[in-house]
Amino acid sequence: MTRPALLWFRRNLRTHDQPLFDRLDGGPALGVWILDPRELLAADPLGFPRAGDRRRRFLFEAVADLRQRLRGLGTELIVRTGEPEALLPTLMRASGADTLTVVRHPGTEERRIEKKLRRALGDRLDLREPDTLFASDDPRADARALPEVFSAWRRQMEKERPLAAPRPTPQGLTPWPHAVDPGPLPTLTALGRRAPDLASDPDPRAATPFVGGETAGLRRLRRWAFDGDHLRHYKTTRNGLLGDGFASKLSPWLALGCLSPRHVAAETLRYETERVANDSTYWLRFELMWADYFKLALFKHGAAAFAAGGPSGSALRWSNPPGHFDAWRHGRTGVDFVDANMIELAATGFMSNRGRQNVASFLTKNLDVDWRWGARWFESQLIDYDPAANWGNWAYAAGVGADPRGFRGFDVTGQTRRYDPDGTFVAHWLCDAPDRPPAPVVSVYESLARAEQRWRLAQG
Ligand SMILES: Cc1cc2nc3c(=O)[nH]c(=O)nc-3n(C[C@H](O)[C@H](O)[C@H](O)COP(=O)(O)OP(=O)(O)OC[C@H]3O[C@@H](n4cnc5c(N)ncnc54)[C@H](O)[C@@H]3O)c2cc1C
Repeated sequence: MTRPALLWFRRNLRTHDQPLFDRLDGGPALGVWILDPRELLAADPLGFPRAGDRRRRFLFEAVADLRQRLRGLGTELIVRTGEPEALLPTLMRASGADTLTVVRHPGTEERRIEKKLRRALGDRLDLREPDTLFASDDPRADARALPEVFSAWRRQMEKERPLAAPRPTPQGLTPWPHAVDPGPLPTLTALGRRAPDLASDPDPRAATPFVGGETAGLRRLRRWAFDGDHLRHYKTTRNGLLGDGFASKLSPWLALGCLSPRHVAAETLRYETERVANDSTYWLRFELMWADYFKLALFKHGAAAFAAGGPSGSALRWSNPPGHFDAWRHGRTGVDFVDANMIELAATGFMSNRGRQNVASFLTKNLDVDWRWGARWFESQLIDYDPAANWGNWAYAAGVGADPRGFRGFDVTGQTRRYDPDGTFVAHWLCDAPDRPPAPVVSVYESLARAEQRWRLAQG
């Protein structure tokens, strides 16, 4: 009989295109999801919850959906709370599992856990290589050879490699031979969280309801790309700020692996066959390549991705003037475009890409605040938080990415004129913020010219 395998679902919370189902060969499979308090309940060094309640709620919905879907395939998702490296070996003994299957993750904390599991389980740990968008025999070798410039990597991949096809979803899995206590699903209530900020959730001003789980993710993809036909115009609308359809808003599902990037890419190809192939249909794949690039970059750079000087090891530092960071995170800088975006983030757990670029640039360049503070705030607030995408993008925005490509700062006034010309976005988020100060809380900003000077000095 094929060996019974415990499948540890970490970030790939889905049943379609699921690498954990490879090589099961008809053997019994049991899923497990673990609430690791260090990742989901602890505070970060600034005192913010590492995962805010909106992200927790979205995640817990995704876990509940995964359990339903695994049951539909004939097996179970057991849920436990604790440190995976301690829990999993015990769980294997108790359940009679022969192997533990898990997909490698680029994060430094995740890799430490993998090492501990290897020590505890030896070759009973079946550590799978991560999936990439482009077909690859050895993604970690690809990561070691990763060019520091995204476009160089993309061009090379597009020339040399096909996009990898998603795996078919199995019709069923072999159930576990005996009953195992599934454990209760995680909920905010069980954590004692009835946070007041969730009382009006979803916020009535939010355009897109984000419900966690593969089922909701697949529905969003279908509705946005096909039913709403938004994919057709994506390249021209993607810099939008307000509304439901300007971009895919698939990131929360992609970040948790409720959606597979390979599946999303395959759906764009299907759209091209059935409807139209144009710059927009390509551009969604192009953006997915960014996510893949940052994943490989995190494998490559490891701890440097989280250090002050970033992957480039820059000498650039920030003076963190008192009050600047708090004004920024509460949407009280007095700069409407920045404040509107920050209020949207706090109210919904989401911000457009245009917004993120601007607020990150403003914090690090104009307010002279350490980029890691901003990255931590985003980590706490974003429902689509992904370590590789978040810290990678922040490092770029701060000018300490592996490829700084010269100084890049956003002129927020010009950006507002361009992307919110009639002020609709700002009005949408600021009209209900009556306690905002009439005058800027932060009265002295660095000019971009000064910020550029600092950056140049740090380049040596
Ligand atoms: C400072 C900063 C922090 C960010 N933090 C995160 C994060 O924690 N998680 C996250 O998923 N994205 C992050 N991004 C990238 C990007 O802003 C979001 O992926 C995007 O806004 C999500 O909206 P969407 O799904 O509508 O994107 P779309 O425009 O529809 O793009 C489709 C998908 O491509 C991927 N993608 C697009 N742009 C990027 C990018 N620049 N980097 C990596 N992947 C990208 C995402 O998976 C996204 O869902 C960050 C960007 C900045 C500037």
